[in-house]
Amino acid sequence: MSSILSKVSYINGLMDGLQIDKDTKEGKVLVGIVDVLKSMAEEIENISESQKSIEEYMDAVGNNLTYLDDDPYYDDYKLYEDEGDNFVQFKCSNCGDDIYVDKDIIDQREDITCPNCHNKMPLDVDPKKL
Ligand SMILES: [Zn+2]
Repeated sequence: MSSILSKVSYINGLMDGLQIDKDTKEGKVLVGIVDVLKSMAEEIENISESQKSIEEYMDAVGNNLTYLDDDPYYDDYKLYEDEGDNFVQFKCSNCGDDIYVDKDIIDQREDITCPNCHNKMPLDVDPKKL
């Protein structure tokens, strides 16, 4: 983590150990360079910290999306979004939940089961009238 910072500290220590005169022109340049290096190292450390937080956040978001993909009701919802024109909306006579039924299914079946309360209802509605 702090490997860049520790390298900069090492250079800083070298400067002290070599007893570079920080009042000479060359010494001032070296001190300036080490200062800039230290600032950059700290900035990089900050950026990599916040990048880690972002990665953790994205992981959490990704896991939530996976959960949504596994949810059968979410799949129904997506299907409804994709083929909205082909669905007929019913209201469950028992729980009042909205039920979307494919027009193809209405043609084939005489009743539907509410996915919410499992109430069976007759499909006595002509979809062409809706
Ligand atoms: Zn119901």
